[in-house]
Amino acid sequence: MANLAEGADMLAAVLFVLGIMLLRKPATARAGNGLAALGMAIALAFGVLAIPLHHTLMIAIVFAAAAAAGAVVARIVKMTAMPQLVALFNGMGGGAAALVALVVMLHATGTGGRLPALIAIPGFFTLLIGSVSFAGSLVAFAKLQEWLSGRPLLFRGQHLLNLVVLLAALAAGLAALAGLAPAPPLAALVAGLAVLLGFLFVLPVGGADMPVIISFLNSLTGLAAAATGFVLSSDLLIVAGALVGASGTILTLIMSRAMHRSLFSALFAGFGQVQAGAGRLDGAMHATSADEVATLLAYSRRVVIVPGYGMAVARAQLEVKDLADRLIERGVDVRFGIHPVAGRMPGHMNVLLAEANVPYDRLYEMERINPEFARTDVVLVIGANDVTNPAARTNPGSPIYGMPVLEVDQAAAIVVLKRSMATGFAGVDNPLFLMDKTLMLFGDARESVAALVQELREAV
Ligand code: NDP
Repeated sequence: MANLAEGADMLAAVLFVLGIMLLRKPATARAGNGLAALGMAIALAFGVLAIPLHHTLMIAIVFAAAAAAGAVVARIVKMTAMPQLVALFNGMGGGAAALVALVVMLHATGTGGRLPALIAIPGFFTLLIGSVSFAGSLVAFAKLQEWLSGRPLLFRGQHLLNLVVLLAALAAGLAALAGLAPAPPLAALVAGLAVLLGFLFVLPVGGADMPVIISFLNSLTGLAAAATGFVLSSDLLIVAGALVGASGTILTLIMSRAMHRSLFSALFAGFGQVQAGAGRLDGAMHATSADEVATLLAYSRRVVIVPGYGMAVARAQLEVKDLADRLIERGVDVRFGIHPVAGRMPGHMNVLLAEANVPYDRLYEMERINPEFARTDVVLVIGANDVTNPAARTNPGSPIYGMPVLEVDQAAAIVVLKRSMATGFAGVDNPLFLMDKTLMLFGDARESVAALVQELREAV
């Protein structure tokens, strides 16, 4: 039986690795997800078999309730709310790892409140990291859900306070390790301080840095899970946790590079603060109508469509695909310009456009599409805002200065589809909307795009 369980662990680990490899390409991503899920099912099945029989009923009840809740949530959650869901799941992972470590440590505490070092070291590490991830993810969830303001909440001495809390938690862990005081109260103290640290750490992070912080918290949860693997002597948990930790770290670095932010400034600088010199915007807004835009598009040679969060909110992807098809039929060269942080989660736009069957070879990443804008007749900005803001290149006073953006302002004409002149997630005004060559088509993106399709159909 022990050999069988080891074999199952090995198989599950291989399936996790293969799953991640297949996730790298959109065409194989679904199969990758399936393989990883199969690995998880095998791991869970053999994990349950290893538990004494008298706990079976309790475990079955928890399993059934959790699986039912997961299935319902996965079905009803909207694509726009996916990042919040990811933040919440991530927090649950960190919290679960911390709780497991706490329980194991309480059980292993010997007379005099002392803990064996082999359990205490990974145990306190898990408690610290898992609790930070739990509390931080809850704050990230509340910010993305807009229960808390997306603006950074900063106060004087914040970083110093964070450092003091971190040092106090480390000192409590070391005191337990050295046997200076009984382990259980110290473990409770570490958990409390780490939760406080998680709150304090994520509260100052501004809206635009949320993608970075979520993947960072994700990597913390992975590390916490790997450390739990040492506490429980589970090789599989070590491998799975290390995979999550490593992929979360790589994603964090990719995201901060996409926003041209050092990891340090994303995590500690309170991005999104309104800085002196942000300045007032000059220019006048030019509202337009669907028939005017349809005419403009119909007589263009090159059109680039830039989708953003508003396309996801409006669920306009099918209409957008329809519009692209109509234009292609007319001989227009249509491309999609995709910013790596457009929307509210990495790959958000790719997922939506894939759902609408937009061929992958029409999607151009930022580096590839930026040189094309100068040769483009019309850029159609559909519910995107921050990722097109030219102030990121031109205004050193802007909070998003330095963030690489889609250089849509280089095109001959720009049409922006949104409902109002409101700012995007970063809360920063966009001078693009007031440029002479920019036309604003106000309304819900789905209705506006459907109206464009209708106009083009009638024009045939
Ligand atoms: P933005 O949030 O900058 O802008 C979206 C725009 O869509 C809004 O200005 C809004 O304007 C418009 N909009 C909303 N609903 C509709 C609708 N139904 N129809 C038409 N328009 C609509 O989104 P971007 O995609 O440009 O930028 C992403 C931002 O989110 C960046 O700041 C990024 O850092 C951040 N972010 C990204 C994450 C990621 O991982 N990708 C995660 C978390 C944050 P109006 O209200 O006037 O309609």
